[in-house]
Amino acid sequence: MSKTTIARLKATPVTVPLEAPLLHSNGAHWGRFVRTIVEIETADGYLGLGEMGGGGEAVDRTFAGLEPYLVGHEVAQLEALRFKICNPTAALYNNRTQLHAAIEFACLDVLGQKLGVPVHDLLGGKLRDAVPFASYLFFRYADSDSGKGEVRTAEQLVANARDLKQRCGFTTHKLKGGYYPPEHELACYRALAAAFPGDGVRYDPNSVLSPEQAIRFGMAIADLNNDYFEDPTWGLTGMQRVRERVPIPTATNTVVINFEQLSQNVLNRAVDVILLDTTFWGGIRPCVKAAGVCETFSLGVAVHSSGELGIQLATMLHLGAVLPNLTFAADAHYHHLVDDVIVGGPMPYKNGAIAVPTAPGLGVKLDRDRLAKYNELFKQLGGYPYDRDPGRPGWFATIPNARWGDPTKRIVPKLR
Ligand SMILES: [Mg+2]
Repeated sequence: MSKTTIARLKATPVTVPLEAPLLHSNGAHWGRFVRTIVEIETADGYLGLGEMGGGGEAVDRTFAGLEPYLVGHEVAQLEALRFKICNPTAALYNNRTQLHAAIEFACLDVLGQKLGVPVHDLLGGKLRDAVPFASYLFFRYADSDSGKGEVRTAEQLVANARDLKQRCGFTTHKLKGGYYPPEHELACYRALAAAFPGDGVRYDPNSVLSPEQAIRFGMAIADLNNDYFEDPTWGLTGMQRVRERVPIPTATNTVVINFEQLSQNVLNRAVDVILLDTTFWGGIRPCVKAAGVCETFSLGVAVHSSGELGIQLATMLHLGAVLPNLTFAADAHYHHLVDDVIVGGPMPYKNGAIAVPTAPGLGVKLDRDRLAKYNELFKQLGGYPYDRDPGRPGWFATIPNARWGDPTKRIVPKLR
């Protein structure tokens, strides 16, 4: 096979609106996602796609700084790429794990196109044609233009879940919590479980409960059809304490996000289900390797979402397709978005699942008009601080948290 080397790297920040601002325990998604779209051009004319988040900020200039590492690199040399960009000692000074992920996606995209096979064929072959997803429910502010979309009360939460179930077919419901006081969120979560008695539920307060609060919350939901208890508290030792006392499997996308942490969790178990994120772990291939370790040590796995447009969603679908031990629905923020930057627009949900792309490479193409439109929107609105709450000026998150949002107050911050 002739060599395919990287000739150019291009990164474009885009802003795609969400239906409404999404609240979480450490701040908010301010009514939009800012993502950086990465394009790699090869000397023989292929174009590979990658994508990265950045906590509401653009990272195009950071990618530009990587170009000297990449020009002339052969796309098939993926292990060499890992050490070139993020060897563990150099990473103490410059942590480029997430940048590496976007480049790895683009290299796999090129390789698949060159060989005429979808990325999942490069990863061992698909075991399923579609990946099931959870409804991923957030507390939300109303959209400042339409006044619609608020989720603050148990009634609004159940109505939002009902609407999503009808539109997308979800049979698993995840509640992103840690925003309102635990007693309010407990009532909301129990209302959700009661509204869909045959469905699975999962709760994720992003680590902001103290271990004692987490144990209390866990005991109060133990009778429900929980998939797992996701990051109820901070740290491996905190999770271990919760796991000793609460009869629900623990899960994390926070304290086991690399192989060093995974080895500690194997030796001294604190977490039962590892949520694999193609960005946090540095690419699709590290996630496949981690899933193999989890299989060996009888740990569960699921696919995590750190917010995505269609390119990253494609990486999650190819990953989800090849994991034999994927026994839980994946997470995606995708259904909160109003559009995408890929040809054909947003990928559709069917029966709570999204079909795994079958075209060569990642199987998605950039829609140049949409890319330009949402790059313009980025220029107009700029970034936003993911770790701040637009409805509570001056507030910042502590772990554990004690300063909760007020569920009796309707707040509609002006964001556009
Ligand atoms: Mg989580």
